[in-house]
Amino acid sequence: MASKAFNSFEMAQAQFDKVAALLDLDESTRELLRHPLREYSFSVPVRMDDGRVKVFRGFRVQHNDARGPSKGGIRFHPLETIDTVRALAMWMTWKCAVVDIPLGGAKGGVICDPHHLSAREQEQVCRGWVRQVAKNVGPVADVPAPDVMTNAQHMLWMLDEFEVIHGGKYPGFITGKPVGMGGSLGRTEATGFGVVFTLREALREMKLPVENTKASVQGFGNVAQYAIRLYEQLGGKVVCVSCWDQAEQTAYSFKKDTGVELDKLLAITDSFGGINKPEARKLGYEILAGDAWLEQPVDILIPSAIENQIRGDNAQKMHAGVRVIAEGANGPTTPEADKVLQDRGIFVIPDFLANAGGVTCSYFEQVQSNMNYYWEKDEVLGKLDLKMTSAFLAVSELARGRKLSMRDAAYVIAVSRVAQACHDRGWV
Ligand code: NAD
Repeated sequence: MASKAFNSFEMAQAQFDKVAALLDLDESTRELLRHPLREYSFSVPVRMDDGRVKVFRGFRVQHNDARGPSKGGIRFHPLETIDTVRALAMWMTWKCAVVDIPLGGAKGGVICDPHHLSAREQEQVCRGWVRQVAKNVGPVADVPAPDVMTNAQHMLWMLDEFEVIHGGKYPGFITGKPVGMGGSLGRTEATGFGVVFTLREALREMKLPVENTKASVQGFGNVAQYAIRLYEQLGGKVVCVSCWDQAEQTAYSFKKDTGVELDKLLAITDSFGGINKPEARKLGYEILAGDAWLEQPVDILIPSAIENQIRGDNAQKMHAGVRVIAEGANGPTTPEADKVLQDRGIFVIPDFLANAGGVTCSYFEQVQSNMNYYWEKDEVLGKLDLKMTSAFLAVSELARGRKLSMRDAAYVIAVSRVAQACHDRGWV
């Protein structure tokens, strides 16, 4: 679980400093990229259902837009801080750069808990957020998207407010819209499928036939479900998944040596990715402790739940047979655990490469919205495969060539692309 006085922005800067040293970046480029280009911090006054006005804090941070309009989600969270938003904005810059899409990085948020807001109040938070930044965002400047506790409905309210302010139709202002209202087919599958496109390439390089492999997955939400779907279609077998039990406030693992049956498991899973335990038992699953997913005798681990899950204190519990970790979640592996993985020669597909399918498909949504012409699902997923595969191959080639870890190689590619763009524009 997230711990102590952890500051994600300091961590993002430390990661950047390491890569800046590897790349021998000059001082001014370091100074530029260590900090966001722009930050907006503002009040969002909302008349609540009881007639009182409550003032929420809102943020938008644009870390870098040298490669194109910035892109990044908007989070609604009671514990949101400007530093979290800064870190996430910086990571978006690297994520877009590593898959070579022409976008920069941004992130936004509002300190609020939507569980305690009516639909009308949430709509007012969305519209109020847009009113404060309407001049600083938009299809050619900065394109928001859903993130923690925001969804397609929130995006539509935001789009509507933006269009009222600017007096036109601008579907390319925001992504994560419902299909039929400017959304892209394939977005639901994109992150999980993207994880498996990169995993497929890793297995190919390692000469491990996918049909001879087994995997264990942490999480059973959007990313996990679609990663499992495609991995099983390719012939792999998933023997364990895990999820968070909301009622008991703890995690459980669900194990089936003969392989999980995705559709049957989905039928007993709620919309938050929580699996019904009694029903799972009836389907023959062994129900184990939350950490058990990590200890299974498998070739592949796919952490797809939350951050900080493979740590110094539990990395040794991993089975000796594990060969590959495909990080579906953001930040699942701590730096201490990373060292253990390196010592054990485990091939890691780092988060901002492995899970970049989501933002890549959001980019496709933006492109389609700007054209107001929408592609078939196969076309979207085909383009996604191409992007993810090329990005993976570039990173693995550099990792081999310069004897870097996959994570460092991905950072080197991403940071050098952004630094180059800043340089070419004459900024530094
Ligand atoms: P989700 O909310 O749909 O699913 C999360 C799953 O994780 C649920 O099954 C939940 O029960 C489980 N979970 C939560 N805490 C857990 C714990 N301690 N142990 C075991 N399981 C736990 O979320 P998602 O959209 O699938 O996202 C998962 C991760 O992937 C997050 O880190 C997210 O930031 C990252 N990510 C998602 C996308 C996307 O497009 N959805 C894109 C990039 C990155």
